[in-house]
Amino acid sequence: MAMEQKVERQLFDEVMVPCYSPMQIIPVKGQGARVWDQNDREYIDFAGGIAVSCLGHCHPVMVEALKAQADKLWHLSNVMTNEPALRLAKKLTEHSFAERVFFANSGAEANEAALKLARRYAADRFSADKSEIIAFKQGFHGRTFFTVTVGGQAAYSDGFGPKPGDVTHLPYNDLATLADHISDRTCAIMMEPLQGEGGIISPTPEFIQGVRELCDKHNALLIFDEVQTGNGRTGEFYAYQGLGVTPDILSTAKSLGGGFPIGAMLTTAELATHLKIGTHGSTYGGNPLACAVAEAVVDEVSKPEVLAGVKEREQWFREGIATINAKYPIFAEVRGKGLLLGAALNDEWQGRARDVLLAAGEEGLMVLVAGTNVVRFTPSLVISKEDVDLGLARLEAAIAKLYNA
Ligand SMILES: *Cc1c(COP(=O)(O)O)cnc(C)c1O
Repeated sequence: MAMEQKVERQLFDEVMVPCYSPMQIIPVKGQGARVWDQNDREYIDFAGGIAVSCLGHCHPVMVEALKAQADKLWHLSNVMTNEPALRLAKKLTEHSFAERVFFANSGAEANEAALKLARRYAADRFSADKSEIIAFKQGFHGRTFFTVTVGGQAAYSDGFGPKPGDVTHLPYNDLATLADHISDRTCAIMMEPLQGEGGIISPTPEFIQGVRELCDKHNALLIFDEVQTGNGRTGEFYAYQGLGVTPDILSTAKSLGGGFPIGAMLTTAELATHLKIGTHGSTYGGNPLACAVAEAVVDEVSKPEVLAGVKEREQWFREGIATINAKYPIFAEVRGKGLLLGAALNDEWQGRARDVLLAAGEEGLMVLVAGTNVVRFTPSLVISKEDVDLGLARLEAAIAKLYNA
């Protein structure tokens, strides 16, 4: 047999659309919270594929579910339903407020469904004029043209011609501005119940309560984008469960499949009636392989000991980062909840989050950034104490080098 040709990073520049700028290393294998590259160099993974690999890499329950389903049935289309999709939908309704589920393949697609449902509901129930979507600056909702337009960074949606209309962006955590602006023309508010990409910003209790009240007052729907916060990430199965505020529509993806592409929109029975036959759909949505893996992930992540373990691990991270910061003060604060954490750089270190990411990589540690001033941690929800300690030691080594440079 011919030797498999080694593929190198340079090939990316030759054959891939250049909308990403991947690191030089190419990982080839992962197990738990560790990853190995082509040269067999080991990394501790505090990134988790951007809050996706919630059970780490190749967790046995996911591998088992995927292999079992791979021998049974891969795909049907939505002309028929299938057992994994029905079982997963049932479980999602049991673990949330939702009574109805629509399956998609990504976070953006789940949000697209949420926005279309909100628009259709407002048109059916009230009037065609009730179409305003309010969203928040720095929010992120995906890259389809509707969702990227609703996202709060114009840089991502500019330059593609006319945008979907009637979308308003207001500052997050500013209830007075929202109260001034919202009206009976508002169709829905879409928000993250903890902004991820925007820099790990938690909502204040007054803001999140106030948003719900204003929605109720103006017959606007509240859509929580839980693509990043969902499936155990904050220590609740969904983040809203820790906030005392329930949305009308919730989108979920990322950790839902633990690394297998899947997204879902969750809603109530009443709202769901407005997506009648033929109004929306997806070829792959509800795919048996994806749903079988997600079912295994949901079973595992929803265990009380796993959710409690997320809160315990949050403390390991907060204490570890505080210890490093006492020696090499580069951070002003650690923000976020559960294992969606952001260490914000202090005044002297503004703009250098990517330097920390690159220095960590040199030491054998994968971390993320959220903007230019926040180092983000979204590791496996079941990462071991040993791996957290080893990763933090590597983070300390990376920061020491930067600090002493
Ligand atoms: C990642 C993310 C999305 C987009 O998900 P994709 O699967 O990349 O489409 C949407 N909303 C939030 C909050 C996210 O973090």
